[in-house]
Amino acid sequence: MSLFAAVEMAPRDPILGLTEAFNADTRQNKVNLGVGVYYNEEGRIPLLRAVVEAEKARLAAQAPRGYLPIEGIGAYDAAVQRLLFGSESALITEGRVVTAQALGGTGALRVGGDLLKRLLPDAAVAISNPSWENHRALFESAGFPVQQYRYYNAETHGIDRSGMLEDLRNLPPRSIIILHACCHNPTGVDLNADDWQQIIEVLKEREHVPFVDIAYQGFGDGIEQDALAARLFAQSGMSFLVSSSFSKSFSLYGERVGALSLVTQSRDESARVLSQLKRVIRTNYSNPPTHGATIVASVLNSTELRGLWEAELGEMRDRIRMMRQAMVEQLATKGARRDFTFVALQRGMFSYSGLNVEQVERLRVDHGVYAISTGRICAAALNSRNIGHVTDAIVQVLE
Ligand code: PLP
Repeated sequence: MSLFAAVEMAPRDPILGLTEAFNADTRQNKVNLGVGVYYNEEGRIPLLRAVVEAEKARLAAQAPRGYLPIEGIGAYDAAVQRLLFGSESALITEGRVVTAQALGGTGALRVGGDLLKRLLPDAAVAISNPSWENHRALFESAGFPVQQYRYYNAETHGIDRSGMLEDLRNLPPRSIIILHACCHNPTGVDLNADDWQQIIEVLKEREHVPFVDIAYQGFGDGIEQDALAARLFAQSGMSFLVSSSFSKSFSLYGERVGALSLVTQSRDESARVLSQLKRVIRTNYSNPPTHGATIVASVLNSTELRGLWEAELGEMRDRIRMMRQAMVEQLATKGARRDFTFVALQRGMFSYSGLNVEQVERLRVDHGVYAISTGRICAAALNSRNIGHVTDAIVQVLE
């Protein structure tokens, strides 16, 4: 009998399934708002000029492609630390941050999960309700039971503050708490500085382990502003983990450029933690790829290219904001039976639109507008050509 005869079909990824259905749709005015990437005004994934310039220089240098160190490119890891904690960060000068290049934000979460499993084998992991769909799967794969803490309040389109704090308090001590630093996926609803302070107090009290996931730095309010959570945790004196990603901020999705940073209590602790982290990486994929991280490091470490990147990132951020604003205005002008002002207050690429499963279904069937069944839409997939059709369709499914 074949080794694979009894293998069952794994459940389909709902988002990829949606894209397949979209591709098969022959309607001219179809729009895919189910995606998780930034599209420019022309409806394409941008190739940033800063990236092109760095790539030209790399090609000209004819650099050999030897193996990288297990923890990746040193100049890249250092640049990641400055971006997360600020160039003047005491954590960095005190040697209290360990950073390893990772295969995107996903790779960083996974390597972090594997390391934590060795340190806290019996811990529970808690993710926000709702959260990026891969959070649960990643930490379950690392062997942890995964629970949810309350986060989103559908009535107010805001944060369920008391629910969140209560759930964090009620978790067993030393639970691992996954937190979205900014541009919460899927809701677009973020925590403010006060919320973070209160969360930090509870986490300290319960000796929970914060794992901050920052996949959209620069897409919310700005590079520095979006690092608020990382900076507040840095000030708190706690030990914590950060997974970060340049997939979105550099539009380098397929290059898999991310990092895992761990904040320790001393240089000595850092050296021991790094040695263990290297073991985890070595037995996963040995060492990371060269291209994406070389490009990101040369952009971040060059004044000129960094300026260019910041301007391009700013353009992406502003365009999403404009699309959110335009959506709110058009829906109001077209007489939508609901106030959508909250969409303009959300941050990042995603928006919980408040549309229910039936309305999302009607959007797709009647209008060729594809969204996730939870009502999540990607505001970064809107542009001035498709937004009119999208808002018309939303008005109609609300009638
Ligand atoms: N974390 C969150 C919250 C995300 O939304 C994503 C991507 O969608 C990631 C991590 C992973 O990003 P990457 O593509 O860099 O693996």
